[in-house]
Amino acid sequence: MVTTPSTKPPKKRTWKFWVLRSLFVLLLIGAVWLVNLIWFRPFNIRHFYDRVFVATVLRSPELTTLLGLPVLYDWTKDEWDNVSDAQQRRNFEQVKEDYQTLLRYDVESQSPENKLNTSILGWYMKLQVDREPFFYHDYPLNQMGGVQSAVPDLLVDKHQLRTKSDIDAYITRLNGIPIKFDQVLEGLKIREQKGIIPPKFVIGQVLTQMKTFIDGGVYKNPLYTNYIHKTAKLQDVSADEKAAYSKQVAEAIQHSVFNAYQKLIEYNEGLYARSTNDAGVWKLPNGDAFYRYQLRLHTTTNLGPDEIHQIGLTEVNRITAEMRTILQRQGYTDTTQTVQVIMQRLSHEFRFLFPETPAGKQMILARFKQLLDEADKRVGVAFDMRPKASLTVEPVPLFKQAGEALGRYQMPALDGSKGGVFVANLRSSAEHPTFGMKTLAYHEGIPGHHFQVGIQTELNRTAEPRLPIFRTVIPFTAYDEGWALYSEKLAYELGFYQNDPFGNLGRLQAELFRAVRLVVDTGIHHKRWTREAAITYMVANTGRSESEVTTEVERYCVMPGQACSYKIGMMKILELREKAKRSLGSRFDLKQFHRVVLANGAMPLPVLEETVNNWIEQSKS
Ligand SMILES: [Zn+2]
Repeated sequence: MVTTPSTKPPKKRTWKFWVLRSLFVLLLIGAVWLVNLIWFRPFNIRHFYDRVFVATVLRSPELTTLLGLPVLYDWTKDEWDNVSDAQQRRNFEQVKEDYQTLLRYDVESQSPENKLNTSILGWYMKLQVDREPFFYHDYPLNQMGGVQSAVPDLLVDKHQLRTKSDIDAYITRLNGIPIKFDQVLEGLKIREQKGIIPPKFVIGQVLTQMKTFIDGGVYKNPLYTNYIHKTAKLQDVSADEKAAYSKQVAEAIQHSVFNAYQKLIEYNEGLYARSTNDAGVWKLPNGDAFYRYQLRLHTTTNLGPDEIHQIGLTEVNRITAEMRTILQRQGYTDTTQTVQVIMQRLSHEFRFLFPETPAGKQMILARFKQLLDEADKRVGVAFDMRPKASLTVEPVPLFKQAGEALGRYQMPALDGSKGGVFVANLRSSAEHPTFGMKTLAYHEGIPGHHFQVGIQTELNRTAEPRLPIFRTVIPFTAYDEGWALYSEKLAYELGFYQNDPFGNLGRLQAELFRAVRLVVDTGIHHKRWTREAAITYMVANTGRSESEVTTEVERYCVMPGQACSYKIGMMKILELREKAKRSLGSRFDLKQFHRVVLANGAMPLPVLEETVNNWIEQSKS
């Protein structure tokens, strides 16, 4: 039996602190309630929506730090989330209770807006509640994340060091790491007893990460260099105080942090010896049911693994054939070579590459800007709704280049103080052959993530009536990645690839990649493919390098079902558009369709379908 450390380290806190903190919490909840009381009918369901959101933030000091919430940040900056088994159970019970509360509201008597609010939040909560039989079905430590990387990341990236109180909190957090790691260890042992053990290749990478972290010693450790770097210029802390603090920081790292890592390393070395290389979750207890749950969680549909596998195979064939036709028209007629091999060769052709120099990289950045400016002007034919937020193009900072994707979208600030950003990774010009650039720009920027996420984050300010805050942040990957993928195709339909057969090949290559994911994810977790078989299939069908594909496959192993959300979401949006066209004939309006899809922010696909169906019915009359 594993025991949880039940006592927290003593804190230098007075009764005043606790009274103030309680008052503050009451005030915050009171303010929300008051706002509802004033603006809406008392005991309105909207009070409940906000309460759920506020309660989630209050439960998590780490989330508060990550979001950088003013005031609240200072109250909880020296704490970690309690991840003990008992606390996670309590959190789960709370979610169940909240869901029951939501169900007790009389839905029929609500306004259409609140019906939609309830439907979206209800979906989201039910997906959480349905996890109950699979409460332990995950790998808390894996190569993509876990405390071994999340804890230092939070301290380095998000924990502020501007005042003495910030430094005190930093040291308290360092010394709190052993308790946090013990809680994680407790969870790992429970999982091991239940036969939930990550594949050997996952444990091996986690071990490497942890050993690398402590290998360099205290003074080269990022937790130490971060402290030195951030406090160097502080005016309010004297040189003597800084020296005393740095000693405390070093001691905390040496004793608390390194010992905590050492303990996790020892346990995982034992686990490594007891693990196998089986890659899929079929190997877990009740693994097939778990995978079905994961597919529902990520796609928000009831599509089973065999169906998704088949959809993937069909799409891979269709897209590969389309690419073959285009390649042949462009003179690549050697049919003894696969499409993927020809695409590989294409990406090395001089005519498609920018120079591998700072000037070449500036040209890439300028090209992305130009593409997005043009898209912004041309999408007007298909949209009468746009985000207010601006879109800029920025390069990934040098020190982050190695670990980041080729491009990503950074959402605007919720208060509108900063616009959206398309962040391009310029570590190597060779990674941006010209024929792939349009698709990346349309996906991340316009009309992709920037339009969808931008509109969603503004719902709380622009929609009439004002939407509850949860609607601006709630994620449904099938919807938001589905939209971004749909945008790639929409750009093609709008003529953005006219007279650009190679750009169109780049688009199809990107679509093919998402279709391959359907085959590989279901292959690993349902059809019991090995990691190696998955890599072989993926190299052959995407033409990407083995190292790149290996990272992908290992990601699917620890995030079952996630990789299926993109293509399934896109296909649903296309299907709904076709249905609307068929039903409305000449009355179909593309601008209106896009408004219906985007104006409500992220939704589960069945709710989106219902919304589109309602619109079709209204438009008919
Ligand atoms: Zn995306």
